[in-house]
Amino acid sequence: MIHTATHVEAGPLECAVCHFEQAAERLQLDDGMRAMLANSRRELSVSFPVKMDDGSLQVFHGYRVHHNDTRGPVKGGLRYSLAVNLDEVRALAMLMTWKCAVAHLPYGGAKGGVTVDPRGLSEGELERLTRRFGSEIGSFIGPERDIPAPDMGTNDRVMAWLMDTYSMSQGYSVPASFTGKPTSIGGSVGRAGATGRGIFFVTQEAYKQLGLSLEGATVAIQGFGNVGSTAARIFSAAGANVVAVSDSAEAIYDPSGLGDIDAIVASKREAGRLPSEHLHPGDHITNAELLALPVDILIPAALEGQITGANADAVKAKMIVEGANGPVVCSADAILEGNGTAVIPDIIANAGGVIVSYFEWVQDLQSFFWEEENINRRLERMIKSAFLEVTEEQEQNGGSLRDAAYRLAVGRVVEATEDRGIFP
Ligand code: GLU
Repeated sequence: MIHTATHVEAGPLECAVCHFEQAAERLQLDDGMRAMLANSRRELSVSFPVKMDDGSLQVFHGYRVHHNDTRGPVKGGLRYSLAVNLDEVRALAMLMTWKCAVAHLPYGGAKGGVTVDPRGLSEGELERLTRRFGSEIGSFIGPERDIPAPDMGTNDRVMAWLMDTYSMSQGYSVPASFTGKPTSIGGSVGRAGATGRGIFFVTQEAYKQLGLSLEGATVAIQGFGNVGSTAARIFSAAGANVVAVSDSAEAIYDPSGLGDIDAIVASKREAGRLPSEHLHPGDHITNAELLALPVDILIPAALEGQITGANADAVKAKMIVEGANGPVVCSADAILEGNGTAVIPDIIANAGGVIVSYFEWVQDLQSFFWEEENINRRLERMIKSAFLEVTEEQEQNGGSLRDAAYRLAVGRVVEATEDRGIFP
């Protein structure tokens, strides 16, 4: 089935399948191959009880989906959010397959999550939920099979509990079972900031190709979690002018620049909100207004489905760099392209996280750890050369950057499938 631009409110799965189908069409894949790649390889749904602090039992729903494992063990994050459902996880697992293929990582794609707002849980409840969920999905995971990582609502502490739970079930420590762990147990230096850093490297490469400099370029960032705040810091340190940032509650904007990004990060960490002292009245804007600011670079680094058929026309940014997974829906792509806005798609723009996850896994398997400088240098080389391949593909065969990235990614998975053949 081919989804078209009439799907204004398409959900994440429809969007993911729509992007895939467009690539499949261009690659002239036969129906069998299309059906194989449009569906998940295996899916696990679990409902499990957690003892809450007040003594009651609460049942939670969780998922782990393996979209495709043709190119290697599967890789992808675990998300804790109230929006988690099977279709969202399926979509995000599919994106991971393409992301790993576009970056030449020897992985297939997976994703998982629990439908929960982690901010509503005590530390003890969060640990019990995490350990029970980890044990429920234990049969799916392992260093040669499926290596989860952090995603929205999870972090290094959650990965530590999961790695410990998995290790207890094996009877020995298995550091390579999860990535994004604390460095004390085999985590990699540079992993925490890797997604934001990768976004910067890709944008830098895009600017270089355009013959432009990032010095003074205006940047608006939606989302001030790990990805958004790291990107803000790195862009600002490189001389770009970060004029607006937002969290889930509010957005702040100063057309002349927000100034000290570290102070904003500190305020968010300490007071739980973006600072407003140095702003003028009117500098508080809504998230919707942030998306429509007249900036050079817009980085949606919060949720999926932010730029849709309904608001794409209002976007004035010259370039959108997808920090989140799926922030621009299928129906918005054509509108943005028509308006001359370049979109650097998620599967390359935010691949820095999984690239450094790969480095972490390699280090854990070898029990040999690299220095941060080495990690950042390898990340830069890998993500920039992957992006270069995408732009070369676009030059040769046309379409948007997303079309080009999907053609490369899907083509690589198809090639691997054909080389392996179909069992039996
Ligand atoms: N959750 C991240 C992503 O969406 C990282 C996945 C990983 O490192 O495995 O790309």
